[in-house]
Amino acid sequence: MFSEKEIQKIRNQFPILKEKIYSNPLIYMDNAATTQKPLKVIQATQNYYSTMNSNIHRGLHYLSHKATLYVENVREKIKNFIHAKYSSEIIFTKGTTESINLVASSIDSFIKKGDEIIISCIEHHSNIVPWQVLCKKRGAILKIISIHENGFLKLKDFELFISEKTKIVSICHISNVLGIINPIKNIIKKAHEYGALVLIDGAQAPSNLNLDVQELNVDFYVFSAHKMYGPTGIGMLYGKKKILEKLYPYQFGGEMIKNVSFDKTTYSDLPFKFEAGTPNIEGIIVWGSAIDFVKEIGISNIQSYKKKLLIYAVKCLSSIDGIQLYGDNIDFSKKSGIISFNLYKLHCFDVGSILDRLGIAVRTGHLCAQPLMNFFKVSGMIRISFSIYNTFKEIDYLSESILKTKKILLKQ
Ligand SMILES: *Cc1c(COP(=O)(O)O)cnc(C)c1O
Repeated sequence: MFSEKEIQKIRNQFPILKEKIYSNPLIYMDNAATTQKPLKVIQATQNYYSTMNSNIHRGLHYLSHKATLYVENVREKIKNFIHAKYSSEIIFTKGTTESINLVASSIDSFIKKGDEIIISCIEHHSNIVPWQVLCKKRGAILKIISIHENGFLKLKDFELFISEKTKIVSICHISNVLGIINPIKNIIKKAHEYGALVLIDGAQAPSNLNLDVQELNVDFYVFSAHKMYGPTGIGMLYGKKKILEKLYPYQFGGEMIKNVSFDKTTYSDLPFKFEAGTPNIEGIIVWGSAIDFVKEIGISNIQSYKKKLLIYAVKCLSSIDGIQLYGDNIDFSKKSGIISFNLYKLHCFDVGSILDRLGIAVRTGHLCAQPLMNFFKVSGMIRISFSIYNTFKEIDYLSESILKTKKILLKQ
């Protein structure tokens, strides 16, 4: 557990936390949307452009060689970070969304009429729409696991749906709305008994959990850099080598080919088969520094600190009259640092804008999960989500600010 002083030292590494919002100190509680970046990451961007900018894998000149080396080092770093077997199983993409689209599109020809794909009603839109489109195109059927009132997946639904017809199961590791950590290991095991492949949307996981894709025995695992202190526009797809080798390329062009002639083109081996065109070289290299940052603090330390913030915040918020928490009544060991709520019947945008005026950045609206909003029969929610630089004092200020918001909006 970190002392206040240690957290202050970490906070000092994030220049943006010194910004003033309408002359209030910034309280950034929108970390599930994107985290802020430490100096190490900001400086890595400048370092890349000052010392090694060039295109990779092509030129034989010094800079190109250097940038290529750095990029491949980060691939190796990610391989180790998620405990993959081979670095060629790590495909660089724009992020979680593109990774899921890549799989849904490359697996297309393996899906036949009447096949089934299972997702759940708590998924982010980016883990719904690609499967919806694929099902429509191939005449397959999308099955949706529902949830209990506390937000936990109805595992009975899953057991009912899974069959030899199931080709893919695609579920999030941690819900971006409720913070609930799903029992993915059991889901993966059960799906494999029926020969289905499993994709895990891990967008919320890498700054929260120690990941071991081999232990999970997952077929595909995806996340973005920007939710783990790295830059936007870069992320990855992990896939088991044997499976990725069978999939059709996603995009076509430079870097992904072996030989091109007008009669016939052959494709590169993994991972380059899936990396057409010049990648986000800067993003990849800078992501490496974000991973270093996370490793220096330690995932387990981040996790236990965020858990303390979560427990404290749930206690503070539940004591406020008129607050409805979602995904509540769940064992804290199954929840990460995300809380979504509503305040009476007040519109979430009204609450969010007053909090913003007070310097607190929260997310409001459907949170990219409209089916989940429908389940709770609301049009939107207010979400707070923690990171390593949030403090207990900030949570106190949030509680006071919510009371103030109530007063203003209810004209008490
Ligand atoms: C943020 C998020 C996504 C989308 O990630 P992008 O970086 O926008 O592609 C998908 N799923 C979950 C659970 C998320 O939290």
